[in-house]
Amino acid sequence: MLEVQDLHVYYGEIHALKGVTLGVGKGEIVALLGNNGAGKTTTLKTLSGLLPARSGSVRLEGETLLGVPPHAIVLRGIAHVPEGRRIFNRLTVLENLEMGAYARADAGIGQDLERVFVLFPRLKERRAQVAGTLSGGEQQMLAIARALMAAPRILLLDEPSMGLAPVLVEQIFETIRDINGQGTTILLVEQNAAMALSIAHRGYVLETGTIVLSGTAADLQENPEVRRAYLGET
Ligand code: ATP
Repeated sequence: MLEVQDLHVYYGEIHALKGVTLGVGKGEIVALLGNNGAGKTTTLKTLSGLLPARSGSVRLEGETLLGVPPHAIVLRGIAHVPEGRRIFNRLTVLENLEMGAYARADAGIGQDLERVFVLFPRLKERRAQVAGTLSGGEQQMLAIARALMAAPRILLLDEPSMGLAPVLVEQIFETIRDINGQGTTILLVEQNAAMALSIAHRGYVLETGTIVLSGTAADLQENPEVRRAYLGET
């Protein structure tokens, strides 16, 4: 569904992505793992059109995405939940969700609102609340829910567990699995490799801008190097 080939991205002179190649199949959850600074966020930002690539290709169902502006990429079916959430703090929960659907002209918006309220009942309860006053976990839920309001074919999630208490992390990951179960393909960037691999079908490991390892989630969970470097085994 999503094919990334030999992607090179620079910040000025800094060569941040050095030939990233990866693929995400329809219906999959694919985890992109790696330490701080490996290039995970850069990869997602490039896929959603926020950063230009120097070379390489990105295709969604065969159609090229490089050079397409971010708002048009959303319309093609890619929604990005950035690191640190970036919700509209001064707007209500409902207004944030409506913003997620702003580019749509179809009749399914009301139905999708119902769907996200089923996935996130807490947001339904708090729909009139100003988003900046939500807890961190609720803000993460809102960021994901807002992205779903764009009715994406593929959801890019950047560190959804960041800064959340363990019980909330579990809840968020369960919801990510539910979203995938309802048919949305997911590319998940995480430093919490154990949680990510527990819900992913496949994964890639990124180190200093290059994919060094890939496989099924089960293979990666068994891999001694992954266990040592990312799953906290000594
Ligand atoms: P993190 O989990 O910390 O976000 P990451 O794997 O997402 O890590 P990136 O943020 O993609 O890593 O960073 C990849 C490389 O690009 C790093 O070496 C980083 O220092 C560099 N980099 C990221 N953003 C910028 C920027 N705005 N200007 C210059 N260099 C940057």
